[in-house]
Amino acid sequence: MKITGLQTAVVEANFDWTLVRVESDHGVRGLGECFFAPGLTAMIREFGELLEGENPLDTDRLYQKMRWAASGTGIGGAAFHAISGIEAALLDLKGRALGVPVWQLLGGRFRDSVRVYADCHAGESLESLGPLLRRRTPAWMGGGDPADTGTGYFEAGAGEAEEFAPEAYAARAREMVARGFTGLKFDLDVPVPGAAPPDPYARGMLPGQIDHLVRLVEAACEGAGPNAEVAFDCHWRFTLPDAVRLATRIEHCPVAWLEDPTPPENPAALARVTSATSTPIGCGENWYTREGFREALAVGALDVVLPDFQKCGGLAEGKRIAELADLHDLPVSPHNISGPIGTLAGAHLAAAIPNFKSLEFHALDVPFFDELLEGGEPLIAGGHIVLPEGPGLGRELDLDVARRYAKPGEPFFGEL
Ligand code: MG
Repeated sequence: MKITGLQTAVVEANFDWTLVRVESDHGVRGLGECFFAPGLTAMIREFGELLEGENPLDTDRLYQKMRWAASGTGIGGAAFHAISGIEAALLDLKGRALGVPVWQLLGGRFRDSVRVYADCHAGESLESLGPLLRRRTPAWMGGGDPADTGTGYFEAGAGEAEEFAPEAYAARAREMVARGFTGLKFDLDVPVPGAAPPDPYARGMLPGQIDHLVRLVEAACEGAGPNAEVAFDCHWRFTLPDAVRLATRIEHCPVAWLEDPTPPENPAALARVTSATSTPIGCGENWYTREGFREALAVGALDVVLPDFQKCGGLAEGKRIAELADLHDLPVSPHNISGPIGTLAGAHLAAAIPNFKSLEFHALDVPFFDELLEGGEPLIAGGHIVLPEGPGLGRELDLDVARRYAKPGEPFFGEL
């Protein structure tokens, strides 16, 4: 069997859901999803030239071959987003060729269904971000609207104060628990009502801001009730002293984890936060390959490990990261902002690792998430994904629906 080509398509959703399809001379093909990046699809197609003529079943070797080829770019970054999606597509292809599910290829199942946690970013309407995190109106929503601010995610002034009030967090938590989720996540790097926007570069907080964040945590946990757990994402925005102060002040709440209180480049600083508080600290969405997780795990920087399987190097590499976490007695809650293809791939891997905690779902406000899979049967029900029994990923992308929401200017699996 030989790889004959590699094609891409981009669905314009809350992020660019970037899909890669690997074709073979046996007519079997596989589909994977990559974490977005500027210029990503051109890079993916360049990897296609590297893989053409290779046996697609040699998934581990081809992963190494792609890593070596990308060594000029260093470990990490967009090349690894491309590699991750391609590797997942190769595993889908391999499963279909051998007639077994991807979870079987990854070592078999520890569980028949995986728990999904809902990212609840408190806003009600779709927030769509381009590959450089600038807000946009997608083409299918009539993009180019003058109301499209084009502001960056990290620029101040976004959002209405009511969205970020404790009552709004509590109400949203109650709503999500009623929908069957036992895991939730809220943003904590949010505007504080009545306060001037913080300096986004200095990252410092005034006492009143920390007080407000504590109230948000209390409200969300109370809204979630005793049968659900809530994580809180800080998006790397705080200084070490503020992170310690915040983490210790929410210790009375049953927080699942406080995510990225300080930037990921400094595991020693994270370790200081972790050792200063009983609030569990989580990090990982910005790290690549098992090597990228090694130092943080070795210095005790983490309580919960949050790799992103669409960027960390792929599914087999994700499994190696999970094994490394298990070696340190830590649970894994994969970060996931992908569409149904990447989410399903993540569920296959989540089923195949012992120390799995919960898998993120970040597309609550994308109206066509379930339509993208043929048959339209919801992927997530009652806060869980039941693993398909069919070969490969076990579900098919609905090409007509994907084309309807495709990003203008991007090839759609070889069509322009
Ligand atoms: Mg995060």
